[in-house]
Amino acid sequence: MNPNNKKTIKTLIPKEILYLGIWLDKKTHLKFNLDKVKKNFKNLVNILEQKKFTNGLKIHFFKAVLHSQLLYGLEIFDLTENDFKEIDTWINKKVTKFLLKINPHSPRLIYKTEAKIDSVRITIYKRKYKLIQKLNFLGFEKLIKLLPFREKESENINWKARNLKELESELDNYRINQLKNSPSWKVRKYLKIVTIQGNINKQQKYLKWKGSTSILKLRTFTNYLNRYSYVMNEDKSKFCKLCKKINNLDIIEDLDHFLWNCPAYENNRKIWISELKNINISHILKNNNISNIIDRKDSITLLALVENKSIWKSLKKLLNHNLGIRANKRN
Ligand SMILES: [Zn+2]
Repeated sequence: MNPNNKKTIKTLIPKEILYLGIWLDKKTHLKFNLDKVKKNFKNLVNILEQKKFTNGLKIHFFKAVLHSQLLYGLEIFDLTENDFKEIDTWINKKVTKFLLKINPHSPRLIYKTEAKIDSVRITIYKRKYKLIQKLNFLGFEKLIKLLPFREKESENINWKARNLKELESELDNYRINQLKNSPSWKVRKYLKIVTIQGNINKQQKYLKWKGSTSILKLRTFTNYLNRYSYVMNEDKSKFCKLCKKINNLDIIEDLDHFLWNCPAYENNRKIWISELKNINISHILKNNNISNIIDRKDSITLLALVENKSIWKSLKKLLNHNLGIRANKRN
């Protein structure tokens, strides 16, 4: 279906009319928005690459330019679960792969928290509410009769009784619950810590740092390690190649193995741990200190604390050093 086809406009098939930038048919409009944004996305990525922007700024541009273009006018339609899913999947893939440069298989819920991109449903509900409020103040004769609101779509939300602030906090709770009920225990544990810190609604500060991708890869558990990358490439194994070489053992190369256990990095790890112990985090996490985290080999808490610049630097040093050892010894 080509939205630019003049013939369709001439023959006045009602569902393909363009009115004030909105196609009066959900499918046509959705496809129109997606096509437009898919085309513009490549340009945006090219520009952002040339300027070497930070991840935080990239997300900012994406939200300001393309996200709003993608969702333009969608609040008047009766979107289904599949529609929400289609748009969410597209955003997820593009943002992770091309903007944040992390594995597109990263848990979607984590990147949403990291980049503070609401699910499409939440964004559309907010817009829908604003539109309903606006329409309430219009005279009856001006009311757009085509507005296809359906009762079933509003689910448990009482659109009339609330002001926007209340609606937003209700939707935020919905989002947080959605995150907390995620099937992955790693996501749940991670979010628990982020919630304790009170940061769940704040864009992560480190996205504004240059080089934040390396830490984001660690923090979303989809870094260079085989445990996470083998899903991307069938040829790779999920086992640690250094352990195979040194001890002839098949041990899964996951975050814990890489940070705390792999014998190949032992010397480097000793230096790292002694450095780490000097970092003061009492102002971030009460009743917890670095020695505690080290004793428990608690990678998740450590990664949640990455907004502390000293911890980030120390982790990054370890990561680069270990990856260097891995690259050298592998061949
Ligand atoms: Zn190993």
